[in-house]
Amino acid sequence: RDFENDGGEETNINVVVRCRGRNDREVRENSGVVVSTDGIKGKTVGLSMGPSALSNKTYSFDKVFSPAADQGIIFDEVVAPILDEVLSGFNCTIFAYGQTGTGKTYTMSGDISDMLPQPDAAGIIPRALYSLFNKLESEDSEHSVKCSFIELYNEELRDLLSPDDGVKLKIYEDNSKKGHSSTMVQGVEESHIKSAAKGIQLLREGSHKRQVAATKCNDLSSRSHTVFTVTIYIKRTSDTGEDFISAGKLNLVDLAGSENIQRSGAENKRAAEAGLINKSLLTLGRVINALVERGSHIPYRESKLTRLLQDSLGGRTKTCIIATLSPAKSNLEETISTLDYAFRAK
Ligand code: ADP
Ligand code: MG
Repeated sequence: RDFENDGGEETNINVVVRCRGRNDREVRENSGVVVSTDGIKGKTVGLSMGPSALSNKTYSFDKVFSPAADQGIIFDEVVAPILDEVLSGFNCTIFAYGQTGTGKTYTMSGDISDMLPQPDAAGIIPRALYSLFNKLESEDSEHSVKCSFIELYNEELRDLLSPDDGVKLKIYEDNSKKGHSSTMVQGVEESHIKSAAKGIQLLREGSHKRQVAATKCNDLSSRSHTVFTVTIYIKRTSDTGEDFISAGKLNLVDLAGSENIQRSGAENKRAAEAGLINKSLLTLGRVINALVERGSHIPYRESKLTRLLQDSLGGRTKTCIIATLSPAKSNLEETISTLDYAFRAK
């Protein structure tokens, strides 16, 4: 059964854009800059699509970050407010969406070496972990934090924290709580972490495992999604003096390359593979559109990614999509399709 939207509830979906600078190759190939932004942190993206100003196109988003916006700005502007929601007991999700090579992994993980306190290029996950533990340690409520790290490839889930390689995980519905269904992942490794450094170490180990697998399978890194989830339990006292546990969850999702959405026309096995990959990216787009348009039917069940994130999308949750772009003319077509996808999610 698919879940009905209760209606009435506010949909809290934010869409922001981050454009990187031209990389060495784009400079070497003399590929011009066709993406413009209004300041380091603005609201609009402009595309020059031809010789005349008439062929220019402008999109507006909740926030638009220029190549000059560093990892710290992204954290302060996008992640910090969401982290506050998570600490108040809500489930939230941040997605990085974009063409391969535009900075999804840079934005989500960035530099995860163990330089202390943290490298300038540290991305959202390490920064969120540091900020989270700082906040928890400044309160004196009892708390516990756990994290999991899952990869989704070809509609199959793999546990990046499990010591056994190749164990496929299953998703099932947990209907034990009345009127509230959540999905559980059977057998997933959930590690309790007592510090940010420990969480970053798990991220590093899981990312390494993914890299090792990617060298054996060419497409893995561009076609797979990763979901790093931090769950936080805090013991709180209600106004009436009763103790209760507040649980909040933050999902940090590094999506498959958005170019995989179009290339379903490919051949044979690859086509089948592409079809499956497309399924989670396409369904995510549909789920978000349905939430934005307050549709009565949200097609969560149509892909593994949306089933996995079902309890963190819609209802009283906050979602942010960070669409990453290349500024170069050679990527214009993909940039347009990324902006179109992101724009529909607004
Ligand atoms: P994706 O995960 O989308 O395929 P990556 O995050 O791996 O792309 O980024 C590709 C390359 O560009 C990496 O070398 C990364 O360090 C660099 N890069 C991406 N975005 C930025 C940015 N905003 N600032 C500096 N370097 C970046
Ligand atoms: Mg990547």
